[in-house]
Amino acid sequence: MTIKQPGARASGRRDVTWRDDAACRVMPPDLFFPAGTSGAALENIDAAKAVCNACPVRSACLRFAFETKQEDGIWGGTTEVERRRLRRAWLADRRRLAKMSA
Ligand code: SF4
Repeated sequence: MTIKQPGARASGRRDVTWRDDAACRVMPPDLFFPAGTSGAALENIDAAKAVCNACPVRSACLRFAFETKQEDGIWGGTTEVERRRLRRAWLADRRRLAKMSA
């Protein structure tokens, strides 16, 4: 897959073996990085989300996007805007758990 596959960028030293099972491996990378959030891009976003909905590694993909703060594209079936909101909740949960175990 090309460099634009989710998980292909900014992987650093993280375990990204989940990418081996990614449903998007056989899809055009640009589908997951739509140009904009209106007009024709909306159809693109819906198509990408449909792929994500059937992806066996959706949770791992979304967690990776949270951990590496991926700001562009569709990851784990979420858009940038959706992911920003979900990431805030995810971070709050992590802080709460850290406090409980301290
Ligand atoms: S959830 Fe979507 S973006 Fe993530 S690996 Fe699966 S198909 Fe690709």
